Amino acid sequence: MPIRLIVHGGAWSIPDEMDAAHLNGVQKALETVYPALQAGISALQAVEQAVNILEEDPTFDAGRGAFLNDQGEIELDAIIMDGRDLSFGAVAAVQNLLHPVSLAQQVMVKTDHSMLVGKGAQAFARAIGMEELDPTVLLTERELAYYHQIKEDPNFKSHHPFEPLPSDTVGAVAMDKDGNLAAATSTGGTPRKMAGRVGDSPIIGAGAYADNQTGAVSTTGWGESIMKVLLAKTVCDRMEHTNAEEAARFGVQVLREKGKGYGGLIGVNAQGDYSFAYNTEKMAWGWVDTRGTIQARIK
Ligand code: ASP
Repeated sequence: MPIRLIVHGGAWSIPDEMDAAHLNGVQKALETVYPALQAGISALQAVEQAVNILEEDPTFDAGRGAFLNDQGEIELDAIIMDGRDLSFGAVAAVQNLLHPVSLAQQVMVKTDHSMLVGKGAQAFARAIGMEELDPTVLLTERELAYYHQIKEDPNFKSHHPFEPLPSDTVGAVAMDKDGNLAAATSTGGTPRKMAGRVGDSPIIGAGAYADNQTGAVSTTGWGESIMKVLLAKTVCDRMEHTNAEEAARFGVQVLREKGKGYGGLIGVNAQGDYSFAYNTEKMAWGWVDTRGTIQARIK
């Protein structure tokens, strides 16, 4: 089977001066993980590792660099899914962790459950020895300044599609040499979200989905609308009946028309064809093409 790796770093009106940082982040994730995928790591390991790199990068709204909620705190959501048997792990509203996607992976493999939230997820992280960080480690000056700027603004809306409102969730989709698919998504959610708010990203079928029979998808954008149309599952289901590109376009059309929302997605179908689509001004994403060349894009 061909090996495939595609990642994203959010879909929104990314200001031009932030293009380079987004492209570098996407590039780094691909150039670090693709050789490992070639050397034989699984699709599941590849998506976790790629998302880990993006979580470390303060450019993105995931791990370090995440938005602050209305209490001035960072709460993180993540999911990882295995296309071999539809098993998945997810966490929501977790704090003080750099790699929520790895906690999600541990939920998948070490518990009888699929999703843990809040203080239960936190206790599980402690129990498995995951390092809890001082909250300032995840906090960037950029996000602190942004929080102070929007905190008291009565006109602030967390979901206007065509204004430069940040939306830098990260995600990855991979196919390994055995033809197995996996997807992962990690986010700090939306700026000034209510404490306890959980968006689409950790919700199976909304923020990500992976099924070896159809395809694997990771999404980004306005979570409240993405959940309505289960965007990732909608696109995976469509991949069974049409080509990967058309399936991605269909997903964004459903998001716009039925969900009245906006966002973007990346995917790979069961045949190894890539797909992406978005209805925001820009999306940051990249993939490794069939010749093994890294392609990073922002537009
Ligand atoms: N989908 C994420 C959320 O609503 C935000 C994003 O993709 O940037 O939590």
